Amino acid sequence: MPSLPWARAAAGANTYDHAAEAVLPTVYERTTAAAMKAEAINLGQGFPDGEGPQWMRAAAAEAITSDAGPTNQYPPGIGLPVLRDAVAAHQEAHYGITLDPAHQVLFTTGATEGIAASILSFAEPSSEVVAFEPWYDSYGAMVALAGAELRTVPLEAPEFRPDIAGLRAAVTERTSMILLNSPHNPTGAVFTAEEMTEIVAIARQAGAVVMSDEVYEHLTFDAAPHTPVLSVPGAEDTAVAVSSVGKSFSLTGWKVGWVTGSASLVNRVRGVKQFLSFTSAPAYQWATAQGLEDDRGFFAENQQQLQGARDMVMSGLTATGLRPFRPAAGYFILADVSAVTDKTAAEFAAELVEHAGVGAIPVSALTLPSTQQEPDNALNYLLRFAFCKDDEVLERALSRLGKWIR
Ligand code: PMP
Ligand code: GLN
Repeated sequence: MPSLPWARAAAGANTYDHAAEAVLPTVYERTTAAAMKAEAINLGQGFPDGEGPQWMRAAAAEAITSDAGPTNQYPPGIGLPVLRDAVAAHQEAHYGITLDPAHQVLFTTGATEGIAASILSFAEPSSEVVAFEPWYDSYGAMVALAGAELRTVPLEAPEFRPDIAGLRAAVTERTSMILLNSPHNPTGAVFTAEEMTEIVAIARQAGAVVMSDEVYEHLTFDAAPHTPVLSVPGAEDTAVAVSSVGKSFSLTGWKVGWVTGSASLVNRVRGVKQFLSFTSAPAYQWATAQGLEDDRGFFAENQQQLQGARDMVMSGLTATGLRPFRPAAGYFILADVSAVTDKTAAEFAAELVEHAGVGAIPVSALTLPSTQQEPDNALNYLLRFAFCKDDEVLERALSRLGKWIR
């Protein structure tokens, strides 16, 4: 592990170029750039083809141009009151979680900043942080920046259920944090209330803080219920939850996020957050508040559309000979490439984008370097396809894949 902070962060997320001693863009950006260069269809980075609800975009535009407010000057660092009220009302309406908007909701610039601030607040230097693997890239970067060590518990196909016994074995008195992500990117697993309860109990016993990344909370399929960490017994003084506007409203560029939890934990996260960005665009906070107060049917509509796309891509991938695993939520399907090739998913992805004209993300980009060194590790043969795209785009991509693989 390199010693300077920038290099530690980069290496922690597999974005450190050792030879050049330089930083590579994230795997998402690299895949998007490779797809553009090869004029390929990009099923890599998870963003929808559409533009998000028109009425929310109109609310943001109105907020910028109207003299009625919010103004275009600095909003409060912890977020506009209207946004904090809306987050609290949303948690109450959807999950029966009661939060004091003055002290238990912290606005962040996207979930990414909420994750960074939470990890930098609670991951003690030289401690261990435990996460399920594969993980979201920013976890690896921030744990390394904090000077802690990331330990992982693998999620295994076909169900990718969290291995509670494995987690119990991985958590020790050195563990400062447990990082959760449910619904999970990239596997699409939705952790059950029982699993969440056991995870929180393990954290409490170790005196560790749980950070639960819930950005896919409104993208569950077949009526799979999302269990927010704060609904679990014992989580009140143990866990913070992170979510954002991006995935819930198909507005990934807005970067409005929030951290919720006890007044004391949220106050501690503020200690870092207010010196990362202090705050950001009030117009987007304002418009996000409108959406959270009343989604006007968007959540249900979006779920239905995504579930249809999931089903189409599941059968399309199966027809190509790849072995896809059915996700219960989110934007992504993982497929086992070893059904059609001896190559790793990273090698196969490089060929796909060049020759088949389809960009996808190898799961190994979202694992520890030591995992990538294990030729028998199943995670090295999984490729992630995003299906948050128009039907016509997905059909073309599936047809290209089918032709090339055959
Ligand atoms: N966590 C996970 C699991 C994600 O997939 C993403 C991407 N939406 C984020 C965090 C980052 O969210 P945001 O764009 O709100 O920063
Ligand atoms: N969350 C998106 C994904 O998993 C990417 C976000 C990003 O580009 N940082 O694909």
